[in-house]
Amino acid sequence: MIEVTNIARTYQIGESSVNALRGVSLKIEQGEFVAIMGASGSGKSTLMHILGLLDVPDSGEYRLMGREVSKMSEDELAGIRNNVAGFVFQQFHLLTRMSTIDNVMLPSIYSHDAGDVRSAALKCLEMVGLGHRADHRPNQMSGGEQQRVAIARALIRDPMIIFADEPTGNLDTKNSHEIMRILTELHEKGKTIIMVTHEPDIAEYASRVITMKDGQVLEDRRKETASAQQANAGARVLDVGHLPLFQPGRMAGFVIQAFRSIVANKIRTLLSVLGILVGVASVIAMMALGSGAKAAMEEQLKSMGSNLLSVRGGSAKIGGAAQGVGTVTRFTEKDAQAIAELTPLVSRVSGDVTGSAQAVYLDKNWSTGVEGVDFDFGKMRAAEPTVGRWFTRDEIQSREKVAILGTTVVSQLFGNQNPIDRTVKINRINFKVIGVAPAKGFAGPRDQDDVILVPVTTAMYRVLGKDYLDGIFVEVSSAENIAPAKEAIDALIRKRHKLQASDEDSFNIRDMTQFQQMLSSTTQTMSMLLGSIAAISLVVGGIGIMNIMLVSVTERTKEIGLRKAIGARRSDIMLQFLIESVGMTLTGGLIGVAVGVGASMILSTVAGWAVKTSLFSVLLATTFSVMIGLFFGLWPARKAAGLKPVEALRYE
Ligand code: ADP
Ligand code: MG
Repeated sequence: MIEVTNIARTYQIGESSVNALRGVSLKIEQGEFVAIMGASGSGKSTLMHILGLLDVPDSGEYRLMGREVSKMSEDELAGIRNNVAGFVFQQFHLLTRMSTIDNVMLPSIYSHDAGDVRSAALKCLEMVGLGHRADHRPNQMSGGEQQRVAIARALIRDPMIIFADEPTGNLDTKNSHEIMRILTELHEKGKTIIMVTHEPDIAEYASRVITMKDGQVLEDRRKETASAQQANAGARVLDVGHLPLFQPGRMAGFVIQAFRSIVANKIRTLLSVLGILVGVASVIAMMALGSGAKAAMEEQLKSMGSNLLSVRGGSAKIGGAAQGVGTVTRFTEKDAQAIAELTPLVSRVSGDVTGSAQAVYLDKNWSTGVEGVDFDFGKMRAAEPTVGRWFTRDEIQSREKVAILGTTVVSQLFGNQNPIDRTVKINRINFKVIGVAPAKGFAGPRDQDDVILVPVTTAMYRVLGKDYLDGIFVEVSSAENIAPAKEAIDALIRKRHKLQASDEDSFNIRDMTQFQQMLSSTTQTMSMLLGSIAAISLVVGGIGIMNIMLVSVTERTKEIGLRKAIGARRSDIMLQFLIESVGMTLTGGLIGVAVGVGASMILSTVAGWAVKTSLFSVLLATTFSVMIGLFFGLWPARKAAGLKPVEALRYE
């Protein structure tokens, strides 16, 4: 069954090399019980690893059931280890995170096994006399018991050959003989057993003893009674078949294992996903704030009117050095009329004067702003009263003393009373209240409702004593006409006021799109700032995950070695670690979503900020955290998958 010819294995350690095996040839038939003896360092383990397909010889041939092993792929070798071989090691190599029975079941996850693996595992445990310890942890058991669990694990896949490397090396005499009794029993049931030992009394259990010295076979001794077993147990075909990577049952197994390892390191996991958590939370909060601010801004713009131009005297450089220097163009009602004639660019025009005023009603006294407006102002600025009425053209024409109050003024002067048709004194002049302007709220720090609207003529000549307009509001017929309208108005005013091209700063025309742009660029800057915090946090979080995964790979090198020995393929190991890292980032991501949504809700209730969480941002953040898990988990996972079984098992 096993036939090796002249195999050699040399270990390279820096400059020097160790010839662990130098030309070993032997044949082992099915049903044999072979003990490999020899002094420490004679190459016993090396030989056994090669026979067990955990390692490959540098030269020589190895035919297993007629097939040349050196021609097999890594995955195929893993499949054969899983199907044909069972391993028992000196150090047991049980996974401490799992219960005994889960340890026994472990090889099945790398196989086609579907049926009731659990009861099969229980049978194996009963076979080694540990049926009652199925739910115990390996570290709650004695060495002898642990080794019996390892034997049960070697049996779960019903292998043809059992490889045991010093199975009694860590055990006392009583336990050693118990283990040997089990192995002998297995041999009697037809298993081929290849065991490494350096103790003669242990070797006595075998039917054939091969003694090694310095990497060569010194002696090969068979007992007379051997050969009887050989015909037993029908030969198996060495064909592993193809095992799909993604299969619901196996995936579930991987996910459960990943979950266990995450739960086993709760604090560590939580700390390492903190970056992802913060990143995701800020993505959610950022998007909530961004869209909230945008909605609030749109609301405010609506209250300002659309396609609006404001023509003012003075420099446009607000706050700049040019202000207050040079001439200021003063507009008249004739200017407003001339602009109104710029059809079809212009649809509505209203002159505008502002000043402060003292309003008095009975014993109430309120200092406020007074704004003189023209007939079209109501429509242009959405200022037409919901209670009462707007000015008539006649009232404006004849400087009537009628007023429309902002809601703040109403509540200051009238409280809950109806102000319509009452008389208030504005700067000691009696005005009749004809309406209440719709509430507009604050624009920045300014209360837009703390104002009294009066006809522009009344304001100029009766209240404020001005014979000029402070500004002219212009409504352009459509958004596309804003630029041409600005040009036309500019030209018109220059002509009417006989301004030179050099008199740049004596008036300015502003449109609300500038204001809009300013607002949106502010929110955009804020979004980008928050966005970059989120991005940095996600990258840092990802690096944290990568770091912890690398630590985890190093910590679990032996585990990886064991998994490979019992048949895990490269892709299986890779998948296991990827699921783990994605599991971590996804956990962080989901907690982050909760924190982000919570934070935006707190911001909106406590600080009164406008927020709007969206399903989209939640999905985006979750997808992102999965992708980060994949991306930053890939390298550690590849590193784990690339480990050589023997080296990993030896790792300290
Ligand atoms: P045994 O199991 O008989 O004690 P081994 O097969 O483990 O011996 O080792 C044979 C020789 O090869 C020893 O000299 C040992 O130091 C060396 N050796 C084994 N494994 C390695 C390794 N991974 N790297 C370098 N040298 C090794
Ligand atoms: Mg050894």
